[in-house]
Amino acid sequence: MYMPAGKVRRDPRSRAVRTKRTFAFIFAAAVGGLASVGAANGEPPAEVRIGVLAYRGAESADGAWQSTFDYLSAALPQYRFTITTGTAPFLTAAVAAHRLDFVITNPGHFLELKVDYSASALATEEDLEGPPPAEAIGATVFAPAARAELQTLSDLRSLRIAAASPDAFGFRAASREFLDHGIDPLKNMTTDFVGFPVDEIVKAVRAGRADAGIIRSCVLERMVAEGAARDEEFRVIGRKPSSDLRCQVSTRLYPGWPFVKVAQTSPALAQQLSKALFSMQPGADEKAWVEPDDYASVQDLYRTLKVGPYAPFTKLGLLDLIFEHRYWAAVVIMAALWWLVHGVRVSYLVRQRTRELQLAHEAARLRGEQMEHTVRLSLMGEMASSLAHEINQPLAAILTYARGCERRIAGGADADSLREVVGRIAVQAERAGDIVRRMREFVRKNPAPQVPIDPTAALRDAVALFEPTAANAGLEVIADIPDGLPKIRADRLQIEEIVLNLLQNALEAVAAQPDRKVWIVAAAAAGRLDISVRDNGPGLAPGAAARLFDPFFTTKSNGLGLGLSLSRTIVEAHGGQLSVATNAADTGATFRFYLPLMEDVARA
Ligand code: ADP
Repeated sequence: MYMPAGKVRRDPRSRAVRTKRTFAFIFAAAVGGLASVGAANGEPPAEVRIGVLAYRGAESADGAWQSTFDYLSAALPQYRFTITTGTAPFLTAAVAAHRLDFVITNPGHFLELKVDYSASALATEEDLEGPPPAEAIGATVFAPAARAELQTLSDLRSLRIAAASPDAFGFRAASREFLDHGIDPLKNMTTDFVGFPVDEIVKAVRAGRADAGIIRSCVLERMVAEGAARDEEFRVIGRKPSSDLRCQVSTRLYPGWPFVKVAQTSPALAQQLSKALFSMQPGADEKAWVEPDDYASVQDLYRTLKVGPYAPFTKLGLLDLIFEHRYWAAVVIMAALWWLVHGVRVSYLVRQRTRELQLAHEAARLRGEQMEHTVRLSLMGEMASSLAHEINQPLAAILTYARGCERRIAGGADADSLREVVGRIAVQAERAGDIVRRMREFVRKNPAPQVPIDPTAALRDAVALFEPTAANAGLEVIADIPDGLPKIRADRLQIEEIVLNLLQNALEAVAAQPDRKVWIVAAAAAGRLDISVRDNGPGLAPGAAARLFDPFFTTKSNGLGLGLSLSRTIVEAHGGQLSVATNAADTGATFRFYLPLMEDVARA
């Protein structure tokens, strides 16, 4: 059905062109010869890297341009030409990475390189036996000859079509023709992109995996000539007139492949190359290079299809941006991930620590309460006997007064003479009740809230509570607690407890002294209430000073070691401090603590 490539139709232009080129070749060879002298002088030939688009496999790509490479090597011996073949994306990446100086590629790919990488065409290929350079290539849509129902492009609607890739020039050229028939191959057909080499397309159609195929113009003819396909095997669909091109095409024709200069290649080198190309003597393949075409028709094709440089801006922009900054994007994504993981981890740790702290806090509070209660009970135990003695006194007095009343009543005394005695009984009973009440309050477990209290009364009460115990032990308590001390905010019982603790310790410290004394002094100054308890005992045991306030530190056989530790905790909870010093004359110890006055707290 189609014209085999073997038949050659000579173009009347070719003889004149050949003659002109022969002279040019001689000139170029002479220039090359001169240059080779330079090379022979010891300078190694500079490398010129040329990328070649492979649409029929690497070997075929090399072969197609062999005459050009042979010619360039001969004409410019000062350069060593290295050829890299690959697909369009591969070559684009190589251009982006500055690994190529020139590229021989299809017009569509050139357009992309031109827009994205400022590449420019040095020359356009020309087949001396073929069509003019502006109409050198197109695409062929073909189907098995046996499928008689497939005659026009419209017959292919909804069928399966094989092509090399969605960005192959052939597929794009054919897409435009399909669109003219109201068919968008990507939407209205099933496309099967089989990749390169394009021979795969022929195989897919032959095997029935696709109803039709899209292939670059003249490839089918070349395969028939090579014996890779049979003449009568396929029929070209939607054939267009192609007078100069000796192959059947289904599409408009576009300029031949350009020899492309990459932006950073030096103009001097480009000039040398284009000069050489224009003067190239065609080889057996009749290939030559002419002034570059303007590729406007290709631009028009891409604009119509809205592909390549004409793809909608957002899509192209975003993908380009991500691709171009992919390393930074990866770094940013990894940093964001790290930050996220770190944030989650930190918040988890913070929550865990907070929970642990809360538990520890609660445990410490319970332990503190327990300790406080234990100490209070132990103090109570120690003071119980002397308190019993103290209560006994009012009781004995009450008994005496009551017996006296009995006797007077028996003697016929009148009510008036009894009134005074009954009054005394009431006073004694009140005193006993007071002692019992205070004992009860003292052993009560829950501490009261801190409220404004009168320190004079609290301190005097504590001393009064201690008096019987001190009297029993032969200890003289010398108290200097002035009237009208300014108020403090405190739990009164806890303050009494501290004072009782210190007095009890003093009592125990002076036990061995013949003359036992304890001084308790209170004074308000500089916003605070200072209280000291001094004794004339032996002072602190050696090495004890550092550990006095540790819980369970004791030098006594029956001691608990909790009194001072607890007292310090209470003082600090009231915003004060408790400390100890051995007296100057080395007799006895002085414990001091202070509590903030209310006015001062208010000022702060
Ligand atoms: P405990 O009285 O049960 O031993 P404390 O915590 O009240 O517990 O006292 C701890 C230790 O401090 C006592 O064992 C004692 O060695 C020392 N200490 C306390 N008060 C005095 C004091 N006034 N003179 C000498 N040492 C004292």
